[in-house]
Amino acid sequence: MNIVVCVKQAPDTAATVTVQDGKVSWGDAPLVLNPWDEYAVEQALLTKEEHGGKITAISLGPEDAKEALKTALAMGVDEAILVSDPAFAGADTLVASKVLAAAISKVEAVDLIFFGRSAVDSDSGVLGAQVARRLGWPSLSLVAAVNNLSPEGGTIEVERMIDEGRQIVKGSLPVVVSVVKGINEPRYPSFMGIRKASRAEIPLWTAVDLGLTAVPSPAMTWPEIFAPLKIETKCEFIEGETPVVIAEKLADRLMEEKVI
Ligand SMILES: Cc1cc2nc3c(=O)[nH]c(=O)nc-3n(C[C@H](O)[C@H](O)[C@H](O)COP(=O)(O)OP(=O)(O)OC[C@H]3O[C@@H](n4cnc5c(N)ncnc54)[C@H](O)[C@@H]3O)c2cc1C
Repeated sequence: MNIVVCVKQAPDTAATVTVQDGKVSWGDAPLVLNPWDEYAVEQALLTKEEHGGKITAISLGPEDAKEALKTALAMGVDEAILVSDPAFAGADTLVASKVLAAAISKVEAVDLIFFGRSAVDSDSGVLGAQVARRLGWPSLSLVAAVNNLSPEGGTIEVERMIDEGRQIVKGSLPVVVSVVKGINEPRYPSFMGIRKASRAEIPLWTAVDLGLTAVPSPAMTWPEIFAPLKIETKCEFIEGETPVVIAEKLADRLMEEKVI
C-alpha cells in the first residue's frame, strides 16, 4: 500500500502563547509534531505493519517544519517531503488544501492518506476533508477505529466517533482518513529511528515543482489578532451549619452580585 500521512509543525501545547503588536508568539517554547498527528503517523505505521507498503510524510510549512518530519521519520515512516515556497505564505486552508493535494498527486499511486483530527494552533479541523474534495476521494473523518481494510478489494470500514456514539462507515480506496485521539497509542521514536532521521535528506518541493504556476489568494484574512481578555476569578466558599442555611446564604450572595 502507498500511504501518505500529512503532518504539521505546531507549538508545544505547554507553551505560553502571547500576542504583541498583532503577532502571536510562544517565546522560546519548542515547535513539535502536532500532537494529533502522532496518532495519524501511528495509524500509518500500524497499517503498513499489517498490509506492507511505504509511508510518505508530507508537511507544508517553513524550512524548520523539517523537524516535525524528522519526528515522523524517527517514529518509522519511510520518506518525508517538505512543501515550502514563499508563495505559500499567508495560505488559508483553501490554499493549503490545494497545495497538499498537488503534492499528494505527485507521490506515486497513493491508496490511503492519514490526517490528524486538527492542528492545535489553527484548529480548523477541515484540511483532511478539503484535500479529499480536491482529489475527488471519499473523506472519513473522526475515525476512532479501522475495522477492516482490504487493499485487494479496495475497501475500508471504519468507526467514526460522533456525539451520539460510534458510527460504522464503509468506503472505497483511495481514501482520506482523519483520526481521533484514542485510535491507537503513538509509539516513541526508537534510538535507531532518531539516528536515521538525523541523517535523512528531506526533499523540498516548491510551487514550481508542483506545477502550481499561480498560487490562489487566500479566501480568508485575519484583520486583527489580539489576546483573549483576561478574566479574573475568585473562589468563595459558602459555609453554614445546615444545607438550608448554606442555600439561604448562597441565594443572598447571588442577589448581592445581581446574578439572580
Ligand atoms: C488568513 C490566513 C493566513 C494564514 N497564514 C499562514 C501562514 O503564513 N503560515 C502558516 O503556516 N499558516 C498560515 N495560516 C494557517 C494555515 O492556513 C493553516 O494552518 C492550515 O491551512 C491548516 O489548517 P489548520 O492548521 O486549522 O489545520 P486543521 O485542518 O485543523 O488540521 C487537520 C490536519 O491536517 C493536517 N495538516 C494541517 N496543517 C498541515 C500542514 N501545514 N501540512 C501538512 N498537514 C497539515 C494535519 O494532519 C492536521 O492534524 C493562515 C490561515 C489564515 C486563515
